[in-house]
Amino acid sequence: MWTYNSARTLEMSLPSIDRASSRGNICHKIAVDGGSEDSTQAELRSHGWLVLEAPKKGIPYQANYALKQVDTEFFAAFEHDIILNPNWFEKTSRLIASDETIGAVQGVRLYSGSKTMRAIEEWRYRENRLPVWAFSIDNTLLRTEAVKLVGGFSDEDMASADTILRKDLFELGYKWITDPTLISGHYRKDFLEQFRHQLGSLELAKYYWNKPERSILSRVLSILGGNPINVLRMTTQSRMLRVPLAWYILRLEIALYQNIPHQGKFMKPVPMDKWHLDRFAHTILESGKELQTANGKLDLHSVPRDNCAWCGQPARLTYKIPTDWGNIRPRLFSPTGRGFLACSQDHARRIAERVFTNAFDYVTPLERIKGKLAS
Ligand SMILES: [Zn+2]
Repeated sequence: MWTYNSARTLEMSLPSIDRASSRGNICHKIAVDGGSEDSTQAELRSHGWLVLEAPKKGIPYQANYALKQVDTEFFAAFEHDIILNPNWFEKTSRLIASDETIGAVQGVRLYSGSKTMRAIEEWRYRENRLPVWAFSIDNTLLRTEAVKLVGGFSDEDMASADTILRKDLFELGYKWITDPTLISGHYRKDFLEQFRHQLGSLELAKYYWNKPERSILSRVLSILGGNPINVLRMTTQSRMLRVPLAWYILRLEIALYQNIPHQGKFMKPVPMDKWHLDRFAHTILESGKELQTANGKLDLHSVPRDNCAWCGQPARLTYKIPTDWGNIRPRLFSPTGRGFLACSQDHARRIAERVFTNAFDYVTPLERIKGKLAS
């Protein structure tokens, strides 16, 4: 754990970590503090943590200093505002031990404390609007060898240690698994605290993880807070008027930083891995059906033409693009739309890969993984 003036949230966070690890499977609890002036260090010690002073303040520096102390096969990374799920250790440790190519396992964390933040986040969770690969390093069990192989936590961008670590692990062929059923809390006292926290990260960040080549339409939508129908649904379901207000303010804050050029700041797409690609392609292949033309009507899901979307030959198989994949939303006006035709399973798989890679930075090619591991 890395801390800085964290006493207020540690009061809630540390007991939750203890509850989740009651079976005595933890050998060291190490906190690296960035020079707190409140009772952070005393709070940590009273819960049995070893407190070390960081040589340099900042998440990657503090995390790397903690990593140096690790002498076990796995280690867990927590942030000071996590309210850990009681089943966290049991679930994550079973998963990471089951496959040596898994570099990291985590659950998801949803805001707790603030009613407004909770309403927003619970709505997004319920409506499948959190990406299946949501990731962070605040409730994450990591394979020590893997993290050491990639050189620890990168200080390339002080606000992106998690995104860069995940990308680095993908490049070595490791998986990063998120269990969306394992829900921890992410404490925020109120909306203002979230606003300030977000502002701090946006200021600190060098990279904004979003698609760099976005259309004017998507930029305008992002400044307006996304699809207004969703905001309306969020409002009616939560029955709190401050929910849409908070949503628009937070989205505007992000949009201003992402759409107005800042010196020394860049847009980068979120890196994706082969594991997710396989699951995505599998779901698409499972949806494959023979084209029905008996009654003269095509039983299709908005298929634009009756040729294979890969090779252009006549095709008889229809496929559906899943809708519950967070930001894999094929562009509304793209040639594939919500469904497509393919002449063969093989071409359907290639189309699935194209949709997936268009949505993200890259999918690590297997050859590159093998090359890296061999060298
Ligand atoms: Zn084809």
